[in-house]
Amino acid sequence: MYRLTTLAAVLAAAFALFFAATATPPPRPANAPPRDFSAGRAMADITAMAPAPHPVGSAADARVRDYLIARMTALGLAPQVQRDESHRSEAFGGADYLEGAEVENVIGVLPGRDHALPALVLMAHRDSVPGSPGAADDVTGVACALEIVRAIETRGPPQRDVIVAITDGEESGLLGANAFFGDNPLAARVGFVINLEARGGGGRAAMFETGADNGAAIDLFARTAMRPASTSLSVFVYKLLPNDTDFTIAKARGLAGLNFAFIGRQFDYHSPSSTVAALDKGAVQHMGDEVLGVADALARAPQLPARTPDKVYADLLGLTVIAYPAWGGWIALAIAGGLVLLGAWRARRAGELRAVDLVKGAACTLLILMLAAAVLTATRYLTGAGFGFMAQRPLLARFPAFEIAMALSGLGALLLSAALAAGGQSRLAGVWCGLLLAALVPAAALQATAPTIAFVVVWPLIAAGLLSALTADGARGGAVWAAGALILVIATAWLGVLLHLLMEGLDAPQVPAAIVWLLALGLWPLAWPSGDRAQRFGPPVLVLAGALTLAIFLKMTSPWTPDRPEAAEPLYVVNPDAGRAWRADQVGPGAWSRTWLGDRGVRPRAIRLPGLGRPIAAVPAPLVAAPGPSITLARTADGEVTLRAQPAGGATILRVDIFCDTLLMDSRVNGRPDALAAPGQWTHVVWQAVPEGFVLSFRPVGPGKLTLRWAQYLPGWPAGATPLPSMPKTTMDWDQAPATVVTGSRTLGI
Ligand SMILES: [Zn+2]
Repeated sequence: MYRLTTLAAVLAAAFALFFAATATPPPRPANAPPRDFSAGRAMADITAMAPAPHPVGSAADARVRDYLIARMTALGLAPQVQRDESHRSEAFGGADYLEGAEVENVIGVLPGRDHALPALVLMAHRDSVPGSPGAADDVTGVACALEIVRAIETRGPPQRDVIVAITDGEESGLLGANAFFGDNPLAARVGFVINLEARGGGGRAAMFETGADNGAAIDLFARTAMRPASTSLSVFVYKLLPNDTDFTIAKARGLAGLNFAFIGRQFDYHSPSSTVAALDKGAVQHMGDEVLGVADALARAPQLPARTPDKVYADLLGLTVIAYPAWGGWIALAIAGGLVLLGAWRARRAGELRAVDLVKGAACTLLILMLAAAVLTATRYLTGAGFGFMAQRPLLARFPAFEIAMALSGLGALLLSAALAAGGQSRLAGVWCGLLLAALVPAAALQATAPTIAFVVVWPLIAAGLLSALTADGARGGAVWAAGALILVIATAWLGVLLHLLMEGLDAPQVPAAIVWLLALGLWPLAWPSGDRAQRFGPPVLVLAGALTLAIFLKMTSPWTPDRPEAAEPLYVVNPDAGRAWRADQVGPGAWSRTWLGDRGVRPRAIRLPGLGRPIAAVPAPLVAAPGPSITLARTADGEVTLRAQPAGGATILRVDIFCDTLLMDSRVNGRPDALAAPGQWTHVVWQAVPEGFVLSFRPVGPGKLTLRWAQYLPGWPAGATPLPSMPKTTMDWDQAPATVVTGSRTLGI
């Protein structure tokens, strides 16, 4: 039992350290010294800008624009509004999109001493998604940019110009950033971009993405960050993810920069619940503190950071950043290897090292990974929540409880692995050495192939190797124990931060199994059981039972509360050509939607409606007249085909899916070139906030058939339709809801 008590003490201390490291700082009041960043001052701007949803092109978006003009004018930034019709084509999730909107970027400049120097840009987007006030995403970024430029100004004129670029239409396909970097003459003067984002309602602002060749920029970040949250792992992983922010546009143009975002309180991401009241004020303070430091340094530097190869780096519990060049990873690996070998040598001298145990220890690597992956996956499935942005919301509503269930699963898998390994004549020192020696293989493989992420294995291995070198010969000195415990607590807390990030950022339950294995490297001697069979398997069984019970509790009880309501997206879908209509819910349907969907004794079925993408739950309804879009096709004498799509007045979004069986050349959108999908593939054209719609022109290579499907969103439920019942406090309208959608389809010869 002695080891288990020590293990519990180490885990408790590590949790306390983890908690302190991941907590956001206290927000500073509005009367904080003017040189500093104050969340209190930023909150005044956030409160003014985020009372309601303000998607691109909405009246609320225009109010935020006017507010920004007034604020930037007061700050002496001489703001200009860049009005532009912006569109972009991109592939996402295996589909081709072409998105467009009329955007209005608000851009101000804090003049520096030398206008010839390349400028620093502080970028954030002011538009929200429909339905969300966006107090976090991205009004926080906008307000932080204002407060940061104010603080820089207070400290005296900077060396270079600081451009504050508040973009529009980010949520509709990065359209404002596309317009700024594509069409604005100021963009040619940009030397460095700092983007401020939010993918949740709280937590520390992580610096998670950089431009290419970030070495010198990371050095600067490391010098200036107050409580850094950043690793070269996230820079590496973000390159592989399809996620985009405005920074994507800057990065694609080869610009250097840093991208900051907080990702805690994910329930509030793109949600109506992302209100000023729900926002983590400490997250605002952390975002401001971290960005102000590096922005001020960049604004005053005679030269911007040079392009040097990517650094290997990570913060150490928010206290400091450890960074070194990729080749330095070989030295770190050599240190880890040396310590592991020293531990093995000492164990051998003590007569504790047997070949059979070494082999067993190496095999434990696979045992831990497989057991942990199995148990974590089982726990995730037992919660009953599905996978995907909407389906996982029941878990996001009670994320800490879910995280505890997953952490207990991981711990249970670790204890069970040690209990299984401890059978027969196994001796701890040999098995542990085998586990550590085996870890050198993936560590070296990572160093050789992806050196910027090798630290994830090498650093915990250095800690575990040190622990092994200190204790593997069975030394029991008090000082040795104290040093060992300290190393373990720090390593465990550091891996806990990584686990927390993984859990927030990636709903893939097998992936944290790797963290369980890394935790096992150091915790192994404490997880090693003593005594008879019951003592061996008792603790792991208890911990796993706790994890599974918590997961089942999450499945059996409702997650929805007035603070964390269930999403409903009631749509009245009309197809005038077919003379049909449906009542539908685009998400779920949840408890409330099922009451009105099924109120006529008809079971809602998942139906594919034109222009609405995947099938949605719908029941037939009486047809109510609603104005639809005007969609016409014309052909000029020289063979050019023109498709005009104009939404009805008051429509917020017009979506036209286009499919053609012949190649379309020279495609242009409103006169500007943009790509359409290849023959045999759909292009999803999504147009927002353009009353006149869009004109698509192209030249078909040969005769063919053009299939169009459209859906046009009008806000509100039609007056002539059966009204929706009142909504309980535990349900909220999501995205466009309630809305009237006019759909249609047509196939034309071209
Ligand atoms: Zn955003």
